[in-house]
This record gives sequence, structure tokens and C-alpha cells, in this order.
Amino acid sequence: MAETFDVIVIGSGPGGYVCAIRAAQLGLKVACVEKRTTLGGTCLNIGCIPSKALLQSSENFHQVSHSMKDHGIAVGEIKLDLARMQARKSEVVGANTKGVEFLFKKNKITWLKGAAKFTSATEIEVAGAAYTAKHFVIATGSESVPLKGVTVDEKRIVTSTGALELDQVPAHLVVIGGGVIGLELGSVWHRLGAAVTVIEFLDRITPGLDNEISKAFQQVLTKQGFAFKLGHKVTGALVTEGGVELTVEPAKGGAAETVKADIVLLAIGRYAYTEGLALDAAGVETDERGRVKTGPHFETNVPGIYAIGDVIAGPMLAHKAEDEGVALAERLTGQAGHVNYDAIPSVVYTWPEVAAVGKTEEELKAAGIDYKVGKFPFMANGRARAMGDTDGFVKILSDKTTDKLLGAHILGPDAGTLIAELTTAIEFGASAEDVARICHAHPTLSEVVKEAALAADGRALHI
Ligand SMILES: Cc1cc2nc3c(=O)[nH]c(=O)nc-3n(C[C@H](O)[C@H](O)[C@H](O)COP(=O)(O)OP(=O)(O)OC[C@H]3O[C@@H](n4cnc5c(N)ncnc54)[C@H](O)[C@@H]3O)c2cc1C
Repeated sequence: MAETFDVIVIGSGPGGYVCAIRAAQLGLKVACVEKRTTLGGTCLNIGCIPSKALLQSSENFHQVSHSMKDHGIAVGEIKLDLARMQARKSEVVGANTKGVEFLFKKNKITWLKGAAKFTSATEIEVAGAAYTAKHFVIATGSESVPLKGVTVDEKRIVTSTGALELDQVPAHLVVIGGGVIGLELGSVWHRLGAAVTVIEFLDRITPGLDNEISKAFQQVLTKQGFAFKLGHKVTGALVTEGGVELTVEPAKGGAAETVKADIVLLAIGRYAYTEGLALDAAGVETDERGRVKTGPHFETNVPGIYAIGDVIAGPMLAHKAEDEGVALAERLTGQAGHVNYDAIPSVVYTWPEVAAVGKTEEELKAAGIDYKVGKFPFMANGRARAMGDTDGFVKILSDKTTDKLLGAHILGPDAGTLIAELTTAIEFGASAEDVARICHAHPTLSEVVKEAALAADGRALHI
């Protein structure tokens, strides 16, 4: 007889494990299937957490190497202990994945170890055993998109997973793809001493971000020493004794050239991962990009089967997956779980950081919405000056008639933390004036947010 649960969640990433915890909190009997040897999915094992550990360590290294003199601090010879840095990263990952294991025990969630596959619309198989449930949640996440002609070996030609494991700083790292993951990991190795070249098919980096922010971001990275080859595509990669030779062509056609690298990071995006799940045995439909098709409440075309996180449409972000997990668990117990897709922040954890919520200027133009723009630079903020971090600005977009906040974009120090205020404001339907009238502590970086909100009404004070 197959063991049965109220809910079986397939995948223990931030979507899956959070859904499992919330469902257990609400009194359901829950199991979560995970084929990895540790819980936490891409995010905790090979994504958000290890990348942020290395970003922090490399930022510390860079600061000690470059910024101490300005502060009147003399340091002796600085040496990089990469093995220790990597070990620390693994410790951080371990603490987080163990933390999820602890939460599973605390909430009496059964971890079914192994890969799940559907044998019908009402049953799955894991490690040779059959399980049934009233509700199945597919939360199998995503994988790196491959590129024709560029064979990943995770040594010379790596995905983000290999780029998190390098045991030497490459002399020249070529990043294929000017998106978030490529720029974050490019920053890690650049701060540790690598020359970094980013090759991007489009004529801009970070597609999806507000264009003006994107351009300013590229300028800041260029000032830091990044090289960009925009409007170019990589059509081949040859691993040689000394490194990799990439064949690079203009995206619009033209003569090919060779670019040499020690390490190549392939970071052109991620695709929804459903391999081995036997969705066809359950009759679950996917869309043209292989994502599980879902309705407004995460339901698939098969009653009792739901999907959340990277495996469905929408931004591939851990907190989006988590919020979907909570909303779905609440719906399964008769509550009104809901995700507001207009108020999902996104952050690029470079330095300075980039953060955004709501609409970009380009999206507002395309939708024919009249808007006001308020901008304020970090250069004019006392705290940013005191920190020595004056690159960037806050940009606020509000409705021209009602002043309702429509979008907020930040390039600057701690942008990822600053965006929380504007996300809250958007969630509560606030106007730019509401944000402008809130008292912000002095001297803090958050005053730049207030000033940008004031600027939307043409009355910034400190510029
Ligand atoms: C380098 C990198 C950095 C990132 N940084 C950030 C960041 O800073 N902030 C952010 O918001 N997002 C970040 N992301 C994206 C984030 O990791 C994902 O959006 C998030 O992990 C998606 O969660 P998920 O639960 O949908 O799937 P995942 O985290 O991908 O988890 C899916 C899990 O399902 C398991 N699985 C798959 N198939 C089966 C099966 N058949 N049976 C059993 N188990 C299965 C997989 O082993 C995996 O553990 C980053 C991603 C990468 C690669």
C-alpha cells in the first residue's frame, strides 16, 4: 500500500520547503521529496547563499586592499586565502541547509529522499516506493540554460555552480551573459584579482531592469574595471591546454574573432526543470518554454496538482517562490493566499547594489501610463559621503495624476535593503508624497529615498 499524505511537495528549494512548512503549520500531514543530499534547493546549495557568502568575502578583501588608506588605516601585505574563503562559504551553506532540516523536524515534515516521478495523476514513486497525496506541489526549480557550441565541464567552462567552486583566481574570466548571476559572480572574481570580460548578445546589460539604471550600472562596473562586449554572441568554445578560446561574432552578423579566457562562465539564464518527473504520466501540461502551466492559484490542468517557484512563469527569485509556497499552502486549507506580482523586489548583489520594484520607465511608456520621475543621487547624501560610497541614485516613478507609486529603482550602496521601504509603500498603495512625508533618520542612506520621493514633486531639499 502506498503511504499517503495531505500534501507532497516535490523539491525542497525556497518554494518547496516554505510551502511544506506553512502547510504543516496549518495542520496538514506533509512530505517533501528532495533528490539532493541536502535540503534548500538551488538557493541554499548553489545559488543565493553561497554566492552571497563569496560576495561578502570578496567585498571585504577588496575593501581592505583598496579603501583602507582613504580612511587613514594602514595595513600590511594582504594575502588571499581562497581555500579558507571557500571553506567559509561551505560552512555558511551547511548551516543554512541544516537549518531547513531542523525546521522539517520541528514541523513534523517527512523528507522523502530521492527523485520523485509521477506514475499517475494521483501517485508518485520515490526510491522504489509509492506515495499518494490529496495535493501534489511541483517545486522542482530551474537549471542553467546551455549554449550550442559551448560545452560545460564545470572546470574551464563553468555554470554558476562551477564558478562558486573555483580553487584559483582566474587571470581572465569571460562571462557569457550580462545578467544578474554573471555580474554577481563576475564581481566576486574581479574583486579577487581577475580581469573580467562580459559578452552579451543584447546591446545592454541586465535586461528587465530600468534602462537608465542599467546604463548607469554598466558605467559603474566599467569604472571598476569590467570590460563589456555588448551586441556579440559566442558561437564556439575550444578548451586548450592553457584555457579556452571563444569564437565571438557580432549579434547582427559580421566577422568572427577569438577571445581567450582562463575560465568561461556561462550565465545566459535558467530554464524550468522537470526532467525525470514524468509529467506526462500525470498529464500535466507545460508551456512553450517548458514551464509548468498554472492558473491564477497555482493549479495545473490536473486537479490536485499545483506548481510554484522557478518551474512556473514569473521572475526566477527565491522570495517569489517562497511567497507562492505560502499562498498555495493557505489556499489548500481554505484561506485566501495571494501574491502581489506588482510588488516583488529584485536585487543585484554587486557593489554598489541594484534594486528594483514595480514598473520600469519603459514598461510605463509601453502601457501608455503618464508618470512623474523623481531622482536623487547618493553623491548628495551625507551618510553616503561618510561611507565613501557615492555612486548611484534612487529613481521613483509615480502616476502623473494620482501620484501613486508605480515603480522604484535604486543603484547604490545597500540598495537591496533600501528597496524594502518602497516595496512596502507599493504594497500599501502609497503615493510618492506619502514616502516624502515620512520622517527618515539622519544621516542614513534612506534619506536618498525620501529625497527622490520629494523630487517626484519637484521639491528635493538637498540638491
Ligand atoms: C548563482 C545563483 C544565485 C542566485 N541568487 C539569488 C538571489 O540572490 N536572490 C534570489 O531571490 N534568487 C537567487 N537565485 C535564484 C534562486 O535560487 C531561485 O529563484 C530559487 O532557488 C527557486 O526556488 P525553487 O524552490 O523554485 O527551486 P530550487 O531552489 O531550484 O529547488 C528545486 C529543488 O527541487 C529538486 N528536484 C528537482 N526535481 C526533483 C525531483 N524529480 N525529485 C526530487 N527533487 C527534485 C532539486 O534538486 C532542487 O533542490 C540565484 C540562483 C543562482 C543559480
